[in-house]
This record gives sequence, structure tokens and C-alpha cells, in this order.
Amino acid sequence: MIAKRLRESLDSSICIRDIFEEGKKLAAVYGADNIFNFTIGNPSVEPPAIVNESMKRILDSEDALALHGYPANVGYPEVRRCVAEHLNKTFGCNYDENGIVMTAGAAAAIAILCNTLLDMGDEVVTFAPYFWEYKSYVTSFYGRLVPAFCNMETLQPDAWAFETALTPRTRFVIINTPNNPTGAVYTKESIKMVTDILKRKQKEYGHPIYLVSDEPYRKLVYDMEVPYLTHYYRNTIVVYSYSKALSVPGERIGYIAMEPCVQDMEDLIAGITASIRYLGYVNAPTLQQRMLLDCVDASVDISIYKRTRDILYEGLCDIGYTCIHPDGAFYLFVKALEDDDSHFCEEAKKERILMAPGTAFSGPGWVRVSYCVPDEVARASLPAFKKLYDRYMNE
Ligand code: PLP
Repeated sequence: MIAKRLRESLDSSICIRDIFEEGKKLAAVYGADNIFNFTIGNPSVEPPAIVNESMKRILDSEDALALHGYPANVGYPEVRRCVAEHLNKTFGCNYDENGIVMTAGAAAAIAILCNTLLDMGDEVVTFAPYFWEYKSYVTSFYGRLVPAFCNMETLQPDAWAFETALTPRTRFVIINTPNNPTGAVYTKESIKMVTDILKRKQKEYGHPIYLVSDEPYRKLVYDMEVPYLTHYYRNTIVVYSYSKALSVPGERIGYIAMEPCVQDMEDLIAGITASIRYLGYVNAPTLQQRMLLDCVDASVDISIYKRTRDILYEGLCDIGYTCIHPDGAFYLFVKALEDDDSHFCEEAKKERILMAPGTAFSGPGWVRVSYCVPDEVARASLPAFKKLYDRYMNE
């Protein structure tokens, strides 16, 4: 018998992976070219060549026993230095290796921070719609996730919703830009509004409220700059993953980054180090850490995602769908043609289109189209979207 806590979250969550698997079964029946599977965010662009080259070189040249041995909990010092220098060069920051902790992706980084910062019943605020796993991360560590709903016309944070979500029990706020599931990049004005409120609330409550900037899509941004959060708010903790920038989600590599100005930094690092030891499964793998010494600046070819985005965004708008123009990540948020987004997804399946209902991300009335698909699939899906649209309009 599994834990009640897990049972509740299983019962209430809509499992996107199940829809994805259903898509694979349908592809076996109708042929892969006839199924438009826009469910999960698994990168579809090749990793840069240097990823494999680097791993092969490391495996061929380094001492096997040392390479495959237990690493230091927080990661190799030279790798942490390399990440700090990369961030300083790219964003004009002030990191050093003491503020960098290598982790098994962003998922592990957030779990570590939950374990480090949350006591039973503490609160974590995030902007909704949000990445559905935040709730599991937070509740696994006995915290409570509090959504602050964005303005659903713009998908930008809303000042009133944010301010009313904060309480003296708020330990940190998770912000994710470019955003999963919406593809929105939060503007400078939104970031300034959020951080001004946080500065005021920190003073009012008399304790730090950390801003955890979850940035796995930082390099997947089209024609604009993503504001770098540490320039706006001193108590920012950056969480990063190379899963999307290098197309290596199976390799589990990322980090936590804090500048020396972060309040109670030494205490935080001690807590993070202890959390890594206690949890035991969250520290970054060795080969993947060493690979970063060669690949820290590398990136997938984002022009491929941009092309697919344009095909779908322009195609769906031309048909008549309401979509929010996505400036980053590889997601498009589309308004469902009825209030019940889950039912709309069921209707879409009749046209062999698979999408994730917005309700799964606290974005009811919308659906997420993950455009990690070849251009031909995106183009071929448009007549099916048109049929779906016509069906609703003629009802
Ligand atoms: N945060 C967001 C917003 C994500 O979309 C994901 C994965 O899709 C993660 C965190 C977890 O990233 P990773 O699997 O690289 O640890």
C-alpha cells in the first residue's frame, strides 16, 4: 500500500506521460506520421557534437577508478569554478566556486532547496500556470505550494495575486522564465514588480524570502533577452539544468548558484551540503560534470525550435485559435475551444492530436502544445487542427 500523501497527488494529477504513451500506441496503429504528439517536453534537436566528443575523450583519457568514484557532495571544484566564470562573463555577476553546487539537474536542485529550507507547513509561492512537478517537490518535503495566478491575457505575473499569496510562512518563491508550460518570458517590468514586492515583504516579515529562479530554458529564447534575476534581487538562488540547452535530459546535470551577497549564504551552503548527503541521490554524476569543462558555453541550435514555433503559432492563429506568442522554451499555450480543457484534449485525440490539458499546470481553459517535433509533423498537424476548429465552430 503506497503512502496516502502520494495517493492523493496521483489521484489529482493528470498524467501527461500517460497521454504521451497513448500517443505511442496510436502511432503503432496509424503510423507515426499520422499522429501529432505534442505532449511532453523531450528535446528534439541534436546535442552539440562537442557533448559526445568530450565524453569519449574523458572516458578514454582519465583514470577510470577516480572518474567513476564518489565525488565531493557539492561537485568538483574546477567544474564549479568553470560555471562561476561562465556566469560572470555572460551576465556580469560576482559568483565564485563557493556559491556553486553541482546537482543531478534542476529537479534535484529544487528538491535539495526544499529539504534545506522547509519546515513542516512552510509555504512556497509560484506563478501559475506552473511546471506541475513543483507541487510534488514541495509536498514531498512537507511544504505547501501556493499558486499566484498570472494575468491570463498576458501570462505575466499579477501584482495583486502575488502580494496576496505571500505570508509570514513563505520561505521562497519559485519563478520560471522562459516558462513551462506557457513559453512566456517574464518582462523586465514584471521582474521589477515581483522583486519590489519581495523586498518590501522581507522587511515586513523580518526574514529573508529567497527567489529561486528555475532556469532550464534560459538559452531557449527567441529574439529577446531574458532579464537575469540576480541584478534585481539580492536573495536570488539560481537553479539551472543543461537538459534543454544541451539536449541531455537523461544525463542529469545542473547546478545551484548563489552570489556571495545572498543572505545567510554560509548557513545555506552547509544546509545544502547536508541535504545532498541525507538525500543521497541528488548529487551530479562525475562524467557529466567533467564534460562541462568542455561544454559550458555550448548550446543546441535554437533556430530549429524557433522555426517550428513559427509554423505552429502562425498556423494556429490563421485558423482562428487564440495563442499567446511564446518567446522562449518549446511550448505554446493555446486557448481550448471549450471551458473543459481535458475534454477538449479528448476531442483533439479524435483528430489524432495529443496535447496536455492546462489544468495539469493550474492553467484551466488552456492546453499546452510542446513543439519538440520535426517541422514536417508541425506542418502536417495544421489540417487536423483546422478540422478540430471547424467541428467546434459548427456545433
Ligand atoms: N523546471 C522546469 C520548469 C522544467 O520544465 C523541468 C523539466 O522539464 C525541470 C525543472 C526539471 O529539469 P531537469 O529534468 O533537467 O532536472
